[in-house]
Amino acid sequence: MTRTGDLDRVIDGIRAAREAGFERIKLNAVILKGRNDDEVLDLVEFARNEGLDISFIEEMPLGDVSDHSRAETFYSSDEVQEIIESRHPLTPTTESTLGPSRYFRMADSDSRIGFISPHSHNFCATCNRVRVTVEGRLLLCLGNEHSVDLRRVLRAHPGDMDALKHAIVAAMPLKPERHHFTTDGDVQVVRFMNMTGG
Ligand code: SF4
Repeated sequence: MTRTGDLDRVIDGIRAAREAGFERIKLNAVILKGRNDDEVLDLVEFARNEGLDISFIEEMPLGDVSDHSRAETFYSSDEVQEIIESRHPLTPTTESTLGPSRYFRMADSDSRIGFISPHSHNFCATCNRVRVTVEGRLLLCLGNEHSVDLRRVLRAHPGDMDALKHAIVAAMPLKPERHHFTTDGDVQVVRFMNMTGG
């Protein structure tokens, strides 16, 4: 799905993280209709066998893509859940990792199944996320361009942590109320996810 890289190295990395003592490792998987919707159960079995949590994410319309039509590949969390429940009944929980995942449990496994559903179960109302890009831009929302240039603050006040903290706190009112994503294939945000960071 990443179009590049080496899956074996990724799997080795996941196992190395577990062996290094990370207790709860979570995978995120974006499911696209016709691309990998036939791999949902394989991913769940992988998570169960490796003792991992896994969250399934509805694709967000970030960046302009030419290799697939987002309108045609949209796959809702409810559809993913239905596939999983054909093999593993899921029980909803109130567990939270302070993020947008809604978690479910299976009776016979410690692995949690999460759903991140920006389209079908919008979670902006409880969003507590901001992100810093590698260029020092504080982004207040994934689905909007509101941001503050922290690099400029750092350069104007070298070593002054108070100035930096003040700039971050002062930026919070800029956080937009919500995204305006649609599933019709429109590009709402030109920025790709890898420009934002995780
Ligand atoms: S407010 Fe922005 S960052 Fe938060 S959940 Fe909505 S789109 Fe994502």
